[in-house]
Amino acid sequence: MNENAAQKIRLIMELRRQGINDTDVLSAIERVPREEFIPKTFRDRAYENIALPIANGQTISQPFVVAYMTQMLTPDPRRKVLEVGTGSGYQAAVLSHLCRRVYSLERFRSLQIEAVRLFEKLKIGNITTKLGDGYKGWKEQAPFERIIVTAAAEEIPGTLVDQLNDGGIMILPVGPEPSDQSIVRVMKDDMGNVQEDELMPVRFVPLVQGLAVET
Ligand code: SAH
Repeated sequence: MNENAAQKIRLIMELRRQGINDTDVLSAIERVPREEFIPKTFRDRAYENIALPIANGQTISQPFVVAYMTQMLTPDPRRKVLEVGTGSGYQAAVLSHLCRRVYSLERFRSLQIEAVRLFEKLKIGNITTKLGDGYKGWKEQAPFERIIVTAAAEEIPGTLVDQLNDGGIMILPVGPEPSDQSIVRVMKDDMGNVQEDELMPVRFVPLVQGLAVET
């Protein structure tokens, strides 16, 4: 067994200890080669339970945070999901094994292009990406049964709540600054009433308005 495979098993065991008990989520994490989504210099650390830097000053989240947010999202093979913040594409790849289709928005064109290249390489066919501002959501594909946001807004973006189906769930980090952020679950009931629960403190890169200007 190679070093990565052994580390991956250790990571899955650690995630179980940390309370990830959804076996579908654990097996999705097991199936996605995280080393493909991070810069070469960090590849030997791909299965440590830590966040790592990716291009454009962004980060690929800690595996525990990916697993936790995915578990709280309660994905379902019949449902489509909107992700805001494609980044490396890792979270979208995990979700691709758990739901019907993933729609993922990214504001950096270079990150979006690189993620698409990886999805093709890994033969993942049910992710659609778009260069776009997540604050505006994805009008043409709305409403969504599930929404996951992987960058922190100061407040819950109202447009995303509007694009959530009745009975839908959105998981997102919210907070004014990195030292004061939590993962929040927004649930919309069948009457369209919205309930918010704070789940866990966390640190994310900020959700930034508008498309990124790249030179
Ligand atoms: N899900 C990613 C996490 C990347 S970090 C992964 O698994 O690697 C968060 C990402 O959100 C960054 O790539 C950042 O550029 C993007 N982002 C920030 N604000 C955004 C916005 N308003 N619209 C779309 N993407 C945004």
